Amino acid sequence: MDTTEYKTVLAVFTLFNVLVICWCAPQRFCEPGHEALGRCNNSPAEEKPVCSEMNLGYCNDLDYSRTIFPNILGQRSRHEVESGAEYLLLSVVHGLLNGECSPDIRLLGCSVLAPRCQDLPSPAPVKSCRSTCEAVRKGCGHAFEGIDMAWPYFLDCDRFFASEQEGCHDPLAPLRARQEVAFSNLSPDEPSTIIQFTYHSNAQMYSVLKRTAAKCSHISKTYSIGRSTEGKDLLAIEFTDNPGGHELLEPEIKLVGNMHGNEVLGRQLLLYLAQYLCSEYLLGNQRIQTLVNTTRVHILPSMNPDGYELAAAEVEASNDPEQQPHYNQEGHELNGWTVGRTNAQNLDLNRNFPDLTSILYRNRRIKGFRTDHIPIPDSYWFGKVASETYAVMKWIRSVPFVQSASLHGGELVISYPFDFSRHLHEERMFSPTPDEQAFKQLARTYADSHASMADNNTERCGASFIRSGGIINGALWYSFPGGMSDFNYLHTNCLEITVELGCDKFPSEEELYPEWLRNKEALLSFMESVHRGIKGVVKDEEGYGIKGASISVRGIRKDVTTAEDGDYWRLMNSGTHIITASAKGYSKVSKRIYLPAHMDKPGRVDFVLKKVPVQPVGPDYHLFLSSSLDTYDRFDPYNQFQRYGRAEPGEPGEPREPGMGGEPGMGGERQEKPWWWNYFTQAGVSAPTWLLRN
Ligand SMILES: [Zn+2]
Repeated sequence: MDTTEYKTVLAVFTLFNVLVICWCAPQRFCEPGHEALGRCNNSPAEEKPVCSEMNLGYCNDLDYSRTIFPNILGQRSRHEVESGAEYLLLSVVHGLLNGECSPDIRLLGCSVLAPRCQDLPSPAPVKSCRSTCEAVRKGCGHAFEGIDMAWPYFLDCDRFFASEQEGCHDPLAPLRARQEVAFSNLSPDEPSTIIQFTYHSNAQMYSVLKRTAAKCSHISKTYSIGRSTEGKDLLAIEFTDNPGGHELLEPEIKLVGNMHGNEVLGRQLLLYLAQYLCSEYLLGNQRIQTLVNTTRVHILPSMNPDGYELAAAEVEASNDPEQQPHYNQEGHELNGWTVGRTNAQNLDLNRNFPDLTSILYRNRRIKGFRTDHIPIPDSYWFGKVASETYAVMKWIRSVPFVQSASLHGGELVISYPFDFSRHLHEERMFSPTPDEQAFKQLARTYADSHASMADNNTERCGASFIRSGGIINGALWYSFPGGMSDFNYLHTNCLEITVELGCDKFPSEEELYPEWLRNKEALLSFMESVHRGIKGVVKDEEGYGIKGASISVRGIRKDVTTAEDGDYWRLMNSGTHIITASAKGYSKVSKRIYLPAHMDKPGRVDFVLKKVPVQPVGPDYHLFLSSSLDTYDRFDPYNQFQRYGRAEPGEPGEPREPGMGGEPGMGGERQEKPWWWNYFTQAGVSAPTWLLRN
């Protein structure tokens, strides 16, 4: 069932409930004057409990057939139960929680609304076991937290359940028996992680991310890096052994999907990846535990949720038989090709970053010009800066990312910087960065572990990458300025590749699982490859880390700089290298190192720098060093260029930073009602405020 269909079913069901309420249900509590007219009854005490046949559609798989009214909540008839928000919740809980905790949570709830009836000595309800309730609460609590829903009051284990000594009934006993049979038949090759390989709307995406982070709260956290033009959260999830902050020497990587709103496979793969990392970690998968314990992985499944909404609506419309004549019969292959690519302001986000590549080309012959950490020119802020672009720029400046992948669609190839050609008029020209070897290896890592990207005979989507084995320099493929990868490279330490996942930008839902299989190993290998090259700490003589020190490699005209505590990472290929550490006010130190061909962890190269009096030696170098660092630090355009910000400072829409140590909050979202609220209110059921947290 696809999402819209599902929503329709929910809506229809809710509508059904309105009718039930208006026409059938006797009211428990009277409006003034109604009791006298016989419409209702305010004094229920007299009523005798009666056993009767179970007739509740959503509870028909309980292992007994007779229930009792009034039930444990005091509801006195089948109709009264059916018109309550409690029963409505049980009927939609499977969809709200995305299948998690099903059917356990429903069966537990049913056993309260429709308890087993014991005839002798007189009709009485048999309460369910408190131990079962507590076990379900332990296993499902995170799923409710994940969608910002409070634990339902009627599943209060203390109030509505009984102990074994009191004689309780276990509503999940038959379920457990069935599961045991199923597990004993399960072959070891079955996937151990339960992931739904379907498309996710923006609301579902947020819910999956939050639920995953809640389920794996010891290794995971969600945070917003800012908002889209239309105010949607750009929600990221991180995985690491100590989420919420940077750890000394632990490399950080990011995976970004859906920058082009109509290129949707990457967005889905990243949602599956997040769930996979969480479940496999919990199941004790050694490889995943090692990765998560030694790396900080940030995943932003959608950089352009506004564009996605447009693209998804377009694809949905083209699949609708009534609208079919307006659309091409080819279906998915052709639709989604352009609609939704840009953000809501019609800006192509992969052309919207500061064009530092041109600045580099103009100045590269000037002696001492630094090719790293090139500042953003002031003129950039006078153009249109998308809020998505701004959020990502702020993000990549605030976290010491080492490597990154941006997931796109429309081709099957990895491209790496530069994306902008060395010659203005050459649209296809090999334009390598100083880190060509490291970039090539990074691209190879993904392409070679992908099921078909590096194959010679794989049919491409028009272009041919056979000779290059599925990887290509971006500018040699086609040149464009203002891309995100060039910006990552020239403004920060981060090496970003662009992954083109396949010809079909919006594949059909059946393709999602096979695509996950094709890309899973590639994604894992890519993440693991950050532990390659060298890393270390640059300290002063007293043992304090030096922030912003440069690590240069002879022969590569691009330095990386140290993070807050003096730690650094540098992706490098095997061989002999001369590494130099330098910092303003300190003496330089060089080391010769040898990196073997096969490394499963990076070489550790630490430096201790001696303080020297600051003197104007090497005027050209230091001139550029100090002036460019000053400009680099000045980045905070929303303070300087208020007119580009959508939100006033302090308002919910104000861009928020991911925590380098602090708490990355969800900001002003608390005041709004959660997305599932209208399932309960649109049809007039008395609003279950008990489902709202806080
Ligand atoms: Zn793209």
